[in-house]
Amino acid sequence: MITSWNDSARRIFGYTAEEIIGQSIYKLIPPDRQDEEPGILHRLKKGERVEHFETRRLTKDGRLLDVSLSISPLKDGQGNIIGLSKIARDITERKLDEARKNDFIGMASHELKTPLTSLHAIIQVANAKLKNSDDKYLAHAMEKANMQVKRMTRMINGFLNISRLESGKLIVERQSFDMGQLISEILEETSLTVSTHTITLQSTAPAVINADRDKISSVLSNLISNAVKYSPAGGTILINYWLKGKTLTVSVKDQGMGISPDDLDKVFERYYRVEAAEMRNISGFGIGLYLSAEIIKRHNGQIWAESTAGQGSVFSFSLPIG
Ligand code: ADP
Repeated sequence: MITSWNDSARRIFGYTAEEIIGQSIYKLIPPDRQDEEPGILHRLKKGERVEHFETRRLTKDGRLLDVSLSISPLKDGQGNIIGLSKIARDITERKLDEARKNDFIGMASHELKTPLTSLHAIIQVANAKLKNSDDKYLAHAMEKANMQVKRMTRMINGFLNISRLESGKLIVERQSFDMGQLISEILEETSLTVSTHTITLQSTAPAVINADRDKISSVLSNLISNAVKYSPAGGTILINYWLKGKTLTVSVKDQGMGISPDDLDKVFERYYRVEAAEMRNISGFGIGLYLSAEIIKRHNGQIWAESTAGQGSVFSFSLPIG
C-alpha cells in the first residue's frame, strides 16, 4: 500500500498524493507485469536492495513509462522491515536513445554484409583457381584473406544479433540434432583456423536435443574461440557434454588466464570486458557472452563460468533436452 508520495512522483505518474495514498502499488503496474512484484518483494524480505531494475509502469492517463526502480527496505530500531522505499526514474529518453543506436547498429551491419558476401564469393573462386598454381604466395594470401573475411562475418553477425536481440527479434527456431555431431562439425571448422591449441572433444555418447541448432552453434563457437583467445598458445582445451535426466550440459575448459571472482558474474553483461594487463592485446567487443547468455536463457537453460585467476576457466551451459 502506498503510504507516501512526493512531488516528483506526482509529476512522473500524474496522480496527486491525495489520489494515490492508501491505494495498492499494483495500480502503477501494467497487467502483464503484475507478477514482477512478488519477486521484488521476496528479495526485499531477505533484506536485499533492488537497484536499477528496468521495467515499465502505468501513468494515471494510461501511458506506459520506461522506469528504472531502486527499492530498499525501511527498518525500525530493532531491524524489522516495516516498509519499503521506492525510487522510480523516468528513463524514456535513454530507452529511445538505445533504440536509435540499435537501429543504427542493425542497419550498418546489414549493409556491411552485402559487400562482404561478394568478397567471400570472389575469394572462394580465386582459391579454387589457385589450387593448381605454382604461385605459393598468392595461394597462401588467399587462404589468409578467406580467414579474415570469416572473422569479419562472425563479428558482423554478432552485431546483427545484438540489434535483433534488443529489438525483440531474436527468435528460437527448434529442431532435433545431436550435440556431439554439432560440436564435431564446429571443431572441424575451427581446426582450419586454429593451429595454436589442442582442442579435444571428450564425450562420444549420443545426445539428441531439441533446440535452435544455429544459435547453439554460435554459443559453442563463442566459448571455444574465447578459450583460444584467452589462453596461451600450446594450451589444451577440453570439451565435454553429458546428459542427466532431461538436462544436457556442455562445458568448455581452458588453461588460460582465468577470471577473478569479482569479474566472474559480470562477463555475461553487455559490453563487459575484464580490465587486466594481459587483455591489452586481445581485441573484442564484450558482446559474445552476453549474446550467448541471452540465447541460452531463451531456451530456458543456464550458463555459468567457474574459474581461478591464472589457472584457466570452465564455461558451461545446460539445456532442457525437450
Ligand atoms: P570479447 O571476448 O569480445 O571481449 P565476450 O563477451 O566473449 O567478449 O567475453 C567477455 C569478457 O569475458 C572478455 O573480454 C574476457 O575478459 C572474459 N572472458 C571470456 N572468456 C574467457 C576465458 N575463456 N578466459 C578468461 N576470460 C574470459
